[in-house]
Amino acid sequence: MPTTVIPYAEEDKQLIQRAYRKLLKSIKTPMDDHDRMNIRNAYELAVQAHAKQRRKSGEPYILHPIEVARISAEEIGLGPTAIVAALLHDVVEDTDTSLNDIKKIFGDKIAKIVDGLTKLDGSYDSESPQAENFKKVLSTLVEDVRVVLIKMADRLHNMRTLGSMPRHKQLKIAAETSYIYSPLAHRLGLYKFKTEFQDLCMKITDAETYLDIAKKLNATKQDRTLYINEFIKPLTKLLDEIGVPYRITGRPKSIFSIWNKIKIKKVPFEEIYDLFAVRIIIDVERKREKPICWAVYSIVTDVYKPIPERLKDWITTPKSNGYESLHTTVVGPKGRYVEVQVRSERMDEIAERGFAAHWKYKGVNDSEDVYDNWLDGVREILENPTEDALEFLSDFKTNLFHEEVYVTTPRGDMKVLPKGATALDFAFHIHSDVGYRCKALKVNNRLVRMGYKLQNGDQVQVITDKNQKPTEDWLKLVVTGKARSKIRSSMKEERRKFGEFGKETLMRKLKNNKVDFDNGADTLVNYFELKSRPDLYYEIAMEHINLTEVLKKFNVKERKLVEIPIEIVVIPEPKPKTPTKADKKVEGKHKLLIGGEPGEQYNYSFANCCNPVQGDNVFAYLTVNAGIKIHRANCPNARHLLANYGYRVMKADWIVTTNSSFVADLVITGIDAGRGVIQDLMNAITSTLDINIRSFSIAGNEGYYEGKISLLVANKDQLIVAIKTLESLDNVSTVTRVE
Ligand code: MN
Repeated sequence: MPTTVIPYAEEDKQLIQRAYRKLLKSIKTPMDDHDRMNIRNAYELAVQAHAKQRRKSGEPYILHPIEVARISAEEIGLGPTAIVAALLHDVVEDTDTSLNDIKKIFGDKIAKIVDGLTKLDGSYDSESPQAENFKKVLSTLVEDVRVVLIKMADRLHNMRTLGSMPRHKQLKIAAETSYIYSPLAHRLGLYKFKTEFQDLCMKITDAETYLDIAKKLNATKQDRTLYINEFIKPLTKLLDEIGVPYRITGRPKSIFSIWNKIKIKKVPFEEIYDLFAVRIIIDVERKREKPICWAVYSIVTDVYKPIPERLKDWITTPKSNGYESLHTTVVGPKGRYVEVQVRSERMDEIAERGFAAHWKYKGVNDSEDVYDNWLDGVREILENPTEDALEFLSDFKTNLFHEEVYVTTPRGDMKVLPKGATALDFAFHIHSDVGYRCKALKVNNRLVRMGYKLQNGDQVQVITDKNQKPTEDWLKLVVTGKARSKIRSSMKEERRKFGEFGKETLMRKLKNNKVDFDNGADTLVNYFELKSRPDLYYEIAMEHINLTEVLKKFNVKERKLVEIPIEIVVIPEPKPKTPTKADKKVEGKHKLLIGGEPGEQYNYSFANCCNPVQGDNVFAYLTVNAGIKIHRANCPNARHLLANYGYRVMKADWIVTTNSSFVADLVITGIDAGRGVIQDLMNAITSTLDINIRSFSIAGNEGYYEGKISLLVANKDQLIVAIKTLESLDNVSTVTRVE
């Protein structure tokens, strides 16, 4: 532990002490003197260790770990051990303090958590693909969940203070957050974190839309409050009669989810009525929760007409991330749809804090524990590592991030599989032997294909045959990691067994030629550029390799195979052709600065997936064989690229030019008044706006039309004017740029 006290400036000192007091106030879990002393010591050690560091924003670095500790305590509800670890989480990584120092002062447990956090760090600067990083996140998750929970707090604070980072780093961090941390937060039941992650990411990748929706939400706030009060009024008297304490909240939904609705439903903000959900939270002991929740439901639906298909009972069957609640949508005053969520205080805490709160309420008798099941799933995937980290990540994403589907066995036992799982997945889910021997599958008493996608409520029966064996094709019929890895290992085993024949042939041949086996086998593995001896055996067994022919290419010297040199024919290299005009043509010359340098020196082009136009928020991505591609920051592919190959991303800035043009695709919807729609659109674009059209198509259906139009615009400003102009036309409802 450092003994020399490094002084802070007076104003910094005050900032730090204020932050520390705020942290202490936020701790809700009971603490003894030892805990208090530990926290104090950790704080002092961190203050000293980080004394020389400042954050990008200029503030003292120590404010970051203090805030991460506060988020862990207040927003996740973690206890003293986690708070100490959070305070120390960057100490080993960034300062002279070693893990051993921490172990000596704070003991094994805290040292282990800090170690886990240190290993997870420095992710977005490293060369290693993010998928590898994610694997690390998960390995620590199974060891001590707190590591990942603190990591979530760390990431949240970094996201909240991302403003002072350079733009391309913001994009990378945001992409990684939305690709990994946000779904993981969802999976751990940290709904508040997930929502905030999504909003913060959107603020970076799509600032304009974000601010636009935020502004509109603000402007309609008063209206909304009035409406919610009007909605609640007739309910309160009836709810009072139940005789149980309750509270009602009416919070607006997140900006990200509102934006999603706008995109999916293709309606403007003004036409989205369920901007908020009304939540009725009852305070009652656990065994009375369910009947009281249903009593509340019954009151709500007596007053307002429910939409039956919108009823969701997550109380009887909690989601696999622990979420419990009763959801319904009713027709409120003025005919507007209102989502109502009914839950107990306990359920509410689990909904907000997920995993962390779950343990608090976990009863000794809760046999089927959703998190235990989930953690088992994580372990299983980790124990069956595929060689490719990216494949691992996609396995993981399909299996453990997704919603689930509920099916039953013929005896009525419920099984939960990830959404999208097939009947064959079900067989492997029951037991790997059932999977291996699966001959036929029945769903609801009817034979189905093995790749049949399971639906909620399906009753599934597996018919086995002891002679059945998995084949390569089966890999295409399953989606769960368990089934895939079992099929793969069975294939490997089959291959190995079959390869035994090849091995015998090889042994015999080498012996006849008086060649040492090890030398012969390895020489041939190299000769055919195979990965391993089993691959060689397999190729021989399959008769892909004719040993008699191959051995003619070798001499035998001292029981070793020596390759006979073959005559080398020199093929003259073709003359380099003089570069033509086409080769030189660099799309968008002088339009961009890439990595701060004129883009013309790179052979860059604009990505077809998102067609950026001048003025869009963009970044440059170095592809494997297609040079540099320019994507929009909110391109759906970008998220994947940024998250997995962050190290190939360069920043790109526009240079304003006048004589360039960009492709921009728009989708236009509206009411088909019978005639004139096409003319109106064409007129507006070519005469009024003077913009060239690249292509145009329109399709109508029952008085509604959807047109796709591809424009050539000079820059984003022109595009915005075009969108506004088209929107203002009669019979046009929405104009959206294709992402
Ligand atoms: Mn940190």
